[in-house]
Amino acid sequence: MDLICVRPEGLYCPAGDFYIDPWRPVDRAVITHAHGDHARGGSSRYLAAQPAASVLRLRLGDVTLDTLPYGARIRMRDVTVSLHPAGHVLGSAQVRIEHRGETCVVSGDYKLAPDPTCDAFEALRCDTFVTESTFGLPIYRWVDPAIVFDDIAAWWHGNATAGRTSILYAYAFGKAQRIETELAAVGALDIGPLVVHGAIASLNAAYRAAGVLVPPGQRVVDTDKSALRRALVLAPPSAAGTPWLRRFGDFSDALASGWMQVRGARRRRALDRGFVLSDHADWPALDAAINATGAARIIVTHGHVPVMVRWLNERGWRAEAFATEFDDQGEADALPPPASDTAVNATGAADANVPNGAADAETDATGAAEATDATGAPAAAINAADAPHA
Ligand SMILES: [Zn+2]
Ligand SMILES: [Zn+2]
Repeated sequence: MDLICVRPEGLYCPAGDFYIDPWRPVDRAVITHAHGDHARGGSSRYLAAQPAASVLRLRLGDVTLDTLPYGARIRMRDVTVSLHPAGHVLGSAQVRIEHRGETCVVSGDYKLAPDPTCDAFEALRCDTFVTESTFGLPIYRWVDPAIVFDDIAAWWHGNATAGRTSILYAYAFGKAQRIETELAAVGALDIGPLVVHGAIASLNAAYRAAGVLVPPGQRVVDTDKSALRRALVLAPPSAAGTPWLRRFGDFSDALASGWMQVRGARRRRALDRGFVLSDHADWPALDAAINATGAARIIVTHGHVPVMVRWLNERGWRAEAFATEFDDQGEADALPPPASDTAVNATGAADANVPNGAADAETDATGAAEATDATGAPAAAINAADAPHA
C-alpha cells in the first residue's frame, strides 16, 4: 500500500487516515502552510506546525487546530508523523510520514533561499518525495536575494529623493513580511516611512503574535501627505489599478515576484520596476532539494508538472504526477492585472491571500479598494488565465 495517494478530497495517507492540504472538507487535515490553496476551511480537525498557528487562525477562524513543534513525532493510526521546516513562509512544513521503515515526505511549497521570517528548509531523506514545481523550468534561476533587497532599497531611495511615493506590490502573506524584515536589516527604513495596506497589516500582526518581529509599518491614514512622498507603500497586487492608489500623488510602482523573471511580464502590466523575488524554489533549488532526499520515487503535484516529471524520469528517477487542486501558478495572485482588467479587479476579485478580509475592512476606513479585499474572492482563477506560462 502506498503511503500517499490522491482522492477526490485531496492527498491522502491511507495508513494514517488523514489528508494533507485537502481541497474539500475532511475529518483530519494536516496543513503544510496557510496559503489559500493549501489551507481551506470546513474540515473537522487540523494539524499544523506550531509557528503556523496565528496565521492559520487569521485565515480559517476558530477551527479545531492541533499544533506540533518542528521535529516532534506523533502517532496517527499506523504511521509516525512529524513536521519539518519548508522555508516557504512562517510555519510552513514538510510532512514526514513513516510506516514500517518506509518514509514519504510531502513538502508542500518550499524554497531554499534564506528568509529571516521563517525556519530554513530542512533536507530529509525519504523513499518517496512529493514536490511542487511552480517554477520548474530551467529559465527560473533566482539571483541572490541580498542583491534584490539592495535594488529595492536603491529604487526607494531614488524615488524618495525625487519626492515620489514608492508603491511595491507583494504577496500579502510571506513575501511582504520578508521584504519588510530584509529592508529593516539593511537599514533602509531610514529612507522614509514604511506604509502597509490593511491586508498586509493584519498578516504582520499575526507574524508578531508568533514572535517574528516584522516591522509593523504604519497605515496610510496615519501618514501625512508630505511624509507619503518619501514612503515605501507595500500593497497586495490586487490594489494595482484601483482607486486606493488615488491618495498617492506622483508615484513609482513595482512588483516583487518570481514571475518578474519572465521578460515582458512587467512591461505588460505597465509597472515601472519588477524585482525577481520568490518564495518558491527555482529550477536549481528544485533539483538540489530532490537530490538531497535520496528518494527513488518523486511525485509532482503542481506547477510545471509534465516538464518536471519528464526531466526526472529521463534522469533515472521514478517520477509521476498527482492531479491536485493546488494553485498551479503559485504566485499567480502576485501578478497585477493588466490595465484592461481593472474592472474585473475592482469588482472584488481581490487578493486570494487576504485571509480574514472582514476584519481588515473593519479596521480600515481608507476606502473602497481595501474593502474589496473583504470578499476574499479567489483571484487565482481570474489571474491564472493571465499568468505567463513561458
Ligand atoms: Zn504557498
Ligand atoms: Zn502551492
